[in-house]
Amino acid sequence: MIQFRDLQRQYAALKPDIDDAIARVCASAHFIGGDEVSALEGELADFVGATHCVSCANGTDALSLALMAWGIGPGDAVFVPDFTFFATAEAPAHIGATPVLVDVGAQTYNIDPQKLEQAIQAVIEEGSLVPKVVVAVDLFGLPADYPAIRCICNNYGLLILEDAAQAFGGSYKGQRACSFGDISTTSFFPAKPLGCYGDGGAVFTDNDEWASLMRSYAVHGKGSMKYDNVRVGINSRLDAVQAAILRVKLAAFKDHELDAINKAADYYHASLEGSGCGLPVVPAGYYSSWAQYTVRLPKGVDRDAVQERLKGQGIPTMVYYPKPLHQQPALKGVARRFDDNEASSALCQTVLSLPIHPYLEKGEMDRVVSGL
Ligand SMILES: *Cc1c(COP(=O)(O)O)cnc(C)c1O
Repeated sequence: MIQFRDLQRQYAALKPDIDDAIARVCASAHFIGGDEVSALEGELADFVGATHCVSCANGTDALSLALMAWGIGPGDAVFVPDFTFFATAEAPAHIGATPVLVDVGAQTYNIDPQKLEQAIQAVIEEGSLVPKVVVAVDLFGLPADYPAIRCICNNYGLLILEDAAQAFGGSYKGQRACSFGDISTTSFFPAKPLGCYGDGGAVFTDNDEWASLMRSYAVHGKGSMKYDNVRVGINSRLDAVQAAILRVKLAAFKDHELDAINKAADYYHASLEGSGCGLPVVPAGYYSSWAQYTVRLPKGVDRDAVQERLKGQGIPTMVYYPKPLHQQPALKGVARRFDDNEASSALCQTVLSLPIHPYLEKGEMDRVVSGL
């Protein structure tokens, strides 16, 4: 039986160090905040090349903290790709802003810069919302087209929020994911490229003022100390146990995991060329951290049947994502779109994500490929 993302195999490989890390926190009895958390924040900021890292409870809160720091709210348009995990649109919707759903590229799966500019112009023309933020998602591990997005955002005076929940470790021309946004976020949900043993997240920025605002919002809007509350915030902290585990996992991630998962993706790519499946495209200069290896089945192929057949051979697959955001009931009357977002809808019909992780073996990938 092949695991979709084999966290047991990873634990077996890292067990002595992870067990030590957990024991160290238990012995210290510092379960919230403290040295482990601040050491991790420093290591994460160094790795991605950002001035500040503020850890928090999950990747959804990370998005909310950024939007809170910028004072986003009712009447503001927040541009979001239509093909992403729900949380990307949920965070702006939750604080009363309007997610504006933009179509994605059919091969990179990331927000289409041309469609983005059309959506911004449509919002300006219509006049009921003020364009404020673009949430660029680095879907499945691949950074979005930041040169083009930055250019558009500069022209229209918008901020970039990079949702790198799936892309920790990805890069463009050597610059790492989590450093492309005015604020960038990530998630340490167990199955993400860098996952912990529960929930966790972080925000990154070079801006001192936003960093201190997010630190405040994450701890009940604290002022000079926890019992001086100067704004209404939330309670969103990363546990010390998770921080200690993440420090071990970050070392393995840098040492061999990121490289190993790229080798696995290369092997899939070589094996699937000519198979008729559409393969994920990594444009020149980009490097993915492969949260998912997502192919597009040929038109007319019965995806349910393919999944069923693979399942029968002990091979799990997933559909990320079965619906574009504009078809999510929760966003009806909440989100807007100014286009039919055809590419997003088409992807939802054909995508299939295959098992991938740093400990996947060639023989296992051979089985996936021949079962497809
Ligand atoms: C996982 C994910 C999130 C949310 O992260 P959580 O830690 O689960 O809250 C946000 N955006 C994207 C694109 C994600 O994949």
